[in-house]
Amino acid sequence: MKESIPKFRQITATIKDIRRQYEEDLSLVVSVPSVSSEPDRFPDVRRCADVAAGLLRRAGATAEVVPTGGHPVVHASLVTDPGNPTVALYNHLDVQPADPGEWSSDPFTLTIHRGRYTGRGATDDKGPALAAMTAAALARDAGIPLNYHFLWELEEEIGSPHFASFLRERKRQIPADSVMVSDTIWVARATPSIPYGLRGLLPATLSLQTARSDVHSGVAGGVARNPLLEISELLTRCCDAETGRVKIPGFYKGVRRPRKGELERSLAVTGFTAKGFARDLGLTSIRPNLSTDLDVVKAFSMMPTFEVHGITGGYTGPGSKAIVPHRAEAKVSMRLVPGQDPIHIARLFREFVKRQNPDIRVKTFPALQPYLGDHRGPYARAARSAISAAFGKEPAFTREGGSIGAVVAMDRILRVPISFLGLSLPSHGYHSRNEHFDWGQASGGIRMFLHYFGEIARIRPPRRRRTAKG
Ligand SMILES: [Zn+2]
Repeated sequence: MKESIPKFRQITATIKDIRRQYEEDLSLVVSVPSVSSEPDRFPDVRRCADVAAGLLRRAGATAEVVPTGGHPVVHASLVTDPGNPTVALYNHLDVQPADPGEWSSDPFTLTIHRGRYTGRGATDDKGPALAAMTAAALARDAGIPLNYHFLWELEEEIGSPHFASFLRERKRQIPADSVMVSDTIWVARATPSIPYGLRGLLPATLSLQTARSDVHSGVAGGVARNPLLEISELLTRCCDAETGRVKIPGFYKGVRRPRKGELERSLAVTGFTAKGFARDLGLTSIRPNLSTDLDVVKAFSMMPTFEVHGITGGYTGPGSKAIVPHRAEAKVSMRLVPGQDPIHIARLFREFVKRQNPDIRVKTFPALQPYLGDHRGPYARAARSAISAAFGKEPAFTREGGSIGAVVAMDRILRVPISFLGLSLPSHGYHSRNEHFDWGQASGGIRMFLHYFGEIARIRPPRRRRTAKG
């Protein structure tokens, strides 16, 4: 780790010690099932915040578990000198649900095999959080003149509903000159990428009830309305199943097209191929209208979508049951891109459903705004140089298909440059079964963060240029 920060004191900890501690810490945080969406797990989410605060304190930080209207936020500061610049490090410690039946091992017991760490949250986002914490402690020991504020959220997987209010209340206690987010995915192993754009997300449910209870299809079949069919029909009117083209009128209005050469440049640097992408994600086939690598990149990073996540209703047990269901519900969501306003899209969607089938009820949930940042300036240069130093590869600046609600909140409230230094790989099984992380990405990440901290410690930003509005 020494080579990346030659201008500062040498780090005396050995890689072996760092690795042992890292694995111990990761085992500990993964063992707390911090599933933010499951009420049964709420006490675990709280416990995870306490455990994380303990780790941050051990690293030398002052840590606080800050209550919000929902799950708490862990806010910790590691101050080397109040006169030094400050970076806010954003990660989240809540995780997606995990069905043990789908996993090859218990999702909440970290298994370590040949440097591969399998467990829920290992790559999203507990592993990267601990890599950032490790690097900050090493950077402090190395004498890098930088202060750190850790913002560890526990509601990211449910759309960060309280993060903006947490930031507004705490703004004065977070004197950040820049933000570093480590919660994004590379294009492939050995092809690092720095996202500068994120898609937004608008989740919704559609429901329809047409009887008091299920009825016999031999008695009422032909007369009773079938809510499963009606909802299915509406879904195919919303979106073309073959191409994914959204058919809600006005949906694409305002969508910002990529700048000239934007996609081509990111393809050239990353060496992205549609084939590799499909293989990493385990897709056995893709939409037939996407014929080139460029089409695929565009589809997952720059274009909005309409997805159906699940449809419930009727009978799905063993054997057959001749009924007409009385109720059906579909869970859907739309990924939105810069130029699309979630509130406006929600209205278009509601009006469209009403025109198509006025009996279907639409419920929309709090949306995440899309984000488009800048990939120029000193922080972007520092990020680029940190990746090259740690991984020996030039990163591509790309747009990501995912959404991080907290990023939009930080952009609007902290109003400082945001860098994305993610460590996850498409093959890590983000949100899926057997999610894992690995020591290659963790150790490279620690080197990358160290280098980045060394670089941004030299940037002297104009102090207090942020507005003091609460
Ligand atoms: Zn995440």
